[in-house]
Amino acid sequence: MQIHPIPMLTDNYAYLLTEGEEAVIVDPSEAEPARIAIGERRLISIWCTHHHPDHVGGVEGLDCPEVLGGSYDLEKKRIPRQTRGLADGATFMLWGKRVEVLFVPGHTLGAICYLIDGNLFCGDTLFLAGCGRLFEGTAAMMRSSLARLRALPPTTKIWCGHEYTAKNLAFATTLEPESPVLRKRQRLLKNPSIPGTIAEECATNPFFRWDAPEIQKAVSRTEPDAVFAELRRQRNHY
Ligand code: ZN
Ligand code: FE
Repeated sequence: MQIHPIPMLTDNYAYLLTEGEEAVIVDPSEAEPARIAIGERRLISIWCTHHHPDHVGGVEGLDCPEVLGGSYDLEKKRIPRQTRGLADGATFMLWGKRVEVLFVPGHTLGAICYLIDGNLFCGDTLFLAGCGRLFEGTAAMMRSSLARLRALPPTTKIWCGHEYTAKNLAFATTLEPESPVLRKRQRLLKNPSIPGTIAEECATNPFFRWDAPEIQKAVSRTEPDAVFAELRRQRNHY
């Protein structure tokens, strides 16, 4: 399986997964760049992480028999042409590999991630050095979703929904100005910055570090959900 990031809109990423003549696309914001990337291949499935237009805007314009998304989004009928609703822990096969679904409410109440062969497609739940805004969920909800992602194997590759890494790292350094790993990450940052790894996020992403003394000190809070809520609040205004 090959993974090709496809830049869409201003700073979105869709991901084209290919194996031979077949393709799957994750979070197509737009149909046209997706069609160009797909080329002569056969599109067998569209995977949506959540219902926001910048993640599903291209679905209607693509010819595909299957559109996957979370069960909550299917109930709400808010992903166009969705054919199947995936619950937490759902698994299915793609090209002989097991795909696992994680329900990760917080950014929205229907958000899911797809995990395949050590690759995490996480939409707007986790960004490199950051996380999504709390549009529908609470800080506690998002923190427990991120706690599950944080516990994935450290080498897991992160393919997220937006290129926000430079600004996220700049915000992170305001909280941990003394962190050498953060400084190094900032210095070596490339564009595109994807994929990241869980290990790197654990060391530098403030939204993975609510229990780190440095972060607790920076936001003057210790209770995990309070730390998390304050981090999110500060980032919204950064
Ligand atoms: Zn979103
Ligand atoms: Fe988005």
